[in-house]
Amino acid sequence: MANYLSKYYDMVSERQRLGVEPLALNAEFTKELCELLLNPPVGSEQELLNLISNRVNPGVDESSKVKAQFLYEIASGKKVSIVISKQKAVELLGNMKGGFNVSYLISLLEDASLAEDAKKALENTLLIYNAFDDVAALANKGNTTAKELIKSWAEATWFTSKSEYPKTVTLTVFKVAGETNTDDFSPAPDAWSRPDIPLHALAMYKISRDDLKADVEGVKGPVSTIENLKSKGYPLMFVGDVVGTGSSRKSAANSLIWHIGHDIDGVPNKRAGGVVVGGKIAPIFYTTLEDSGALPIEADVSKLNSGDVVDLNVYNGTIVKHGTNEVLSTFALKTNTLLDEVRAGGRIPLIIGKDLTDKARKYLGLGSSEVFAKAAEVKAEGGFTRAQKIVGKACGLKGVRPGQYCQPVIATVGSQDTTGPMTRDELIDLACLKFSAPMVMQSFCHTAAYPKPVDVKTHNTLPEFMHNRGGVALRPGDGVIHSWLNRMCLPDTVGTGGDSHTRMPLGISFAAGSGLVAFAAATGIMPLDMPESVLVRFTGKRKPGITLRDLVHAIPYFAIQKGLLTVEKKGKKNIFSGKIIEIEGLEDLSVEHAFELADASAERSAAACAIKLSQTSVENYLKSNIALLKKMANEEGYQTKEALLNRAAAMQSWLDNPELIEADPDCSYAAVLEINCEDIKEPILCAPNDPDDARLLSEVANTKIDEVFIGSCMTNIGHYRAASEILKDMKSEAKVRLWMTPPTRMDRQELSDEGLLSILGKAGTRVEIPGCSLCMGNQARVADNATVVSTSTRNFPNRLGNGANVFLSSAELAAVTAKLGHLPTVEEYFENTSCLDGKEDKIYSLLDFSK
Ligand code: SF4
Repeated sequence: MANYLSKYYDMVSERQRLGVEPLALNAEFTKELCELLLNPPVGSEQELLNLISNRVNPGVDESSKVKAQFLYEIASGKKVSIVISKQKAVELLGNMKGGFNVSYLISLLEDASLAEDAKKALENTLLIYNAFDDVAALANKGNTTAKELIKSWAEATWFTSKSEYPKTVTLTVFKVAGETNTDDFSPAPDAWSRPDIPLHALAMYKISRDDLKADVEGVKGPVSTIENLKSKGYPLMFVGDVVGTGSSRKSAANSLIWHIGHDIDGVPNKRAGGVVVGGKIAPIFYTTLEDSGALPIEADVSKLNSGDVVDLNVYNGTIVKHGTNEVLSTFALKTNTLLDEVRAGGRIPLIIGKDLTDKARKYLGLGSSEVFAKAAEVKAEGGFTRAQKIVGKACGLKGVRPGQYCQPVIATVGSQDTTGPMTRDELIDLACLKFSAPMVMQSFCHTAAYPKPVDVKTHNTLPEFMHNRGGVALRPGDGVIHSWLNRMCLPDTVGTGGDSHTRMPLGISFAAGSGLVAFAAATGIMPLDMPESVLVRFTGKRKPGITLRDLVHAIPYFAIQKGLLTVEKKGKKNIFSGKIIEIEGLEDLSVEHAFELADASAERSAAACAIKLSQTSVENYLKSNIALLKKMANEEGYQTKEALLNRAAAMQSWLDNPELIEADPDCSYAAVLEINCEDIKEPILCAPNDPDDARLLSEVANTKIDEVFIGSCMTNIGHYRAASEILKDMKSEAKVRLWMTPPTRMDRQELSDEGLLSILGKAGTRVEIPGCSLCMGNQARVADNATVVSTSTRNFPNRLGNGANVFLSSAELAAVTAKLGHLPTVEEYFENTSCLDGKEDKIYSLLDFSK
C-alpha cells in the first residue's frame, strides 16, 4: 500500500512541478489500485475511492477494462470491498460512458437486487451501439427493467435530466485581439504533448503578443494572466477578432477549453463547455468547439475587453455589462440546435444520444421525439452544384441544400501522427473496437524525420491500434498523409481527416478535428451543416512559365482585386470562409496536380473544395492506384490487407461503370470568381506572413532570401525535376540554405533513379526524408528571423521558424531564388526558367504505378 501511494504521489509531485494535473491511471496502476480496494489500509479508503472513481479513463482503454471488470466482480459478489458496495460498484460502472462497462451492466439487469441500479446507470450511458439489441432481447424475454430502460432511452432521459442552458451566465472576458490561429492555441513544436491536455495547454500563446505576455517566453503561455482573470470569481469567456484559423487540430480547442471549460464527471484531464466569442470563428474550429460542448458565438467584439465582467444572455442574443442593461454586443446563435449540443455535452454526444433515442422509439413503435430542437428547414429551388450532389449521394438524396443539416456516409478517413494519438484517445472514449468507415488510414509524416521519444512510442503502438480496428497504417518515412490518402479515394464520395489539408480532389472531403474524425471512423457517417459554394472558373490558356501554383495564388489575388477578400484582419472580408470552393475550367489536370488547388483551399478558410475533372484523368489515376494498393497489400506487407484490397476492388468497380457527377445547369453559387489565365503575366506569391496576402513577383523582387524550402503536400515529382533542371548548371552551392523534401518515398526513389539527387547534392541541397518536414515546423525549423521562400501550404507567423518571414511560391520560383539568393525580377525569373521550355511533358509527368 505504502509503496503504491508513494509511487502515485511521486507521479503527482512530478506533475505538480510542471504545474499540471496528475496523469490518468494506466492499466498497471489501476490493477494495483483494485487490489488495494479489496482491503484498504485504514484512513486511505476515501482517497482510493476517489482514484477509482475519477482518475481512470472511461471508454475502451486497458485501464478502463481493468476497472470495469473489477467493479463487475464486486457487483456480482465475486469480490468484496469494504469501500465499494455492490450498489456503488454499479453506480461507478454507470460513470464509464460506454465500452467495457456496457455488457456488465446489461447482465446486471437480470439480477433482481441490482436491476434498478443497472437501469439507472445505463439510462445515461450513450455509447451503447449494437448492445441495444441485447437489451431489446432481454425486454422481449419479459425483463421489465430492460423494458423500462428502453422507455427511458425513448424519452431521452439522458438529455432531459441535464439542465437547460441558463438564461444569464456571468463571465469574465479573456480577450486576445487580432487573429488567433490554431497554432497559437496549440503550437506545432509542442505537438508531442497534445494527448496530455493539461500539459499541452501550458503552451497556449507561449509566444507573447502585443496584448498578452507569456509567463516564460516560448515555453509557457500566459497562465498567470488567465489565473488573475479567473480570480474575479467567474468562468472565462474567450474573445478574439478572428479565432481558430489554420489547422484543424482539436488540440487547439482542447487547450482553450482546458482554460475556460468545466470538468467532466468521471473523466480525468479533459474539460468541456466554455464560451468562445469571435468576430469570425474559422469553420473547422467552430465545429470542433461544438463537438466539445463549448458554445461558439460570432459577434462584434469591439466593445469587449479583457477583464470585463459581462452577462451572456443566449435567449435574447446580448452580451451586457454585468448587472446592467448596457449592451456590449448582440448576436444570433448560428443554428437552432446549438444549445441542445451544449446541454448534451457536445454535438457528438447529442448525435449518438439521439440515435439511441430513435432506436428505442422505433422498438416501441413510437414516432420521432419532440424533445430536441429541430434543425431549420431549408427551402430552395433550382438545381444542385457538384458538391451538393456528391454530398447528396452520400446521404441517399439527389442533393443537399446549403444550410441543410445532413449526415453523409464517409468513404475515406485520414489520420496523421500529431493528431493520431488524440484520435486514438477519442476512439477509446467512443468505445470503438471496429471501424465502420471502409478506409481509415494513419500516416506518420509529421514526426518521422526527427522523432522525439513520445513519437517513437506512437510509431510503435498506433499501427496496431489502427489495424485491430480494420484500418491501414503507413510507415514512418512513407511520406505525407495527403499524397497517400488521395491515392485511396473513390470518385464522388465524401471523406474526412484530422488535418486541415484533407481536401482530396476525388469527390469531396471535409477536414475535421480529431473528435469528429474518430466519430466518422467509428460510425461511418459525419454530421454536416452543408456549406454554400463559391465557384472559381478558370478560362484561357496559361502562359509559358506560369505554374499551377501561380493559379493557386491567383485565387486570393483576383479575389482581393474584386473586393471579395481583404488581407486586413480587423473587419476581414473573405468570401471563401466556411464555403466550398468549386473549381471549373481545369478539367484536364491530372488528379494529383488538381490536389495542389484543392489543398490550398484550406488557406482560404474554405470548408472544402470540389474540382471538376475529366473522366480520363480520374480513370488514369484509379488504374495507377489499384496497382499501388495491391502491391502494398500483396507484396509489401501493409495492413490491413483486407481494407487495401477492398478499396482496390471498389476502384475497379467504379472503372467498370465510370460516371462522374456534374453540376445541374440551373444551380447557383454564393459568388462566382472568373479568372482568365491569360491575365496572369508573372508569378504570384503570398507575402509574409499571410497566405491571403497575394502579390505579383514584381512587387517583391530583389528581396534578399536566407533559406528556401521545396517540399510539403503541395509538391509532386514534377516540382523536383523542374527544380533540378533550374539548378543543374550551378557551379557552386546555392546562395541560400536549401531544403528539399519529396512528398513520398516513391518520389524520392524516382529522384534517385533519375540521377537528380546528385544534382541537388551539388547545389548544396539538404534532402530530408519524405514527410512534412519544415512545413509544419514541429521538426527541423528555419533559423530565427530568417527570410524564406517556401512551397509549403501556409506562412503563419512562427510556423516555419521563430520570427521567420515566409513567402509562398511555386517550386520553380523557389529554385530560381535559391540560385540567385534573392527573389528574382520578372525578367530573371523567365530567363532562369526558360530551360524548362519544351520539356514540360517529361518534367511534369507523374508516377504511374500501373506501368
Ligand atoms: S505537408 Fe504541411 S500542409 Fe501538408 S500535411 Fe504536412 S504539415 Fe500539413
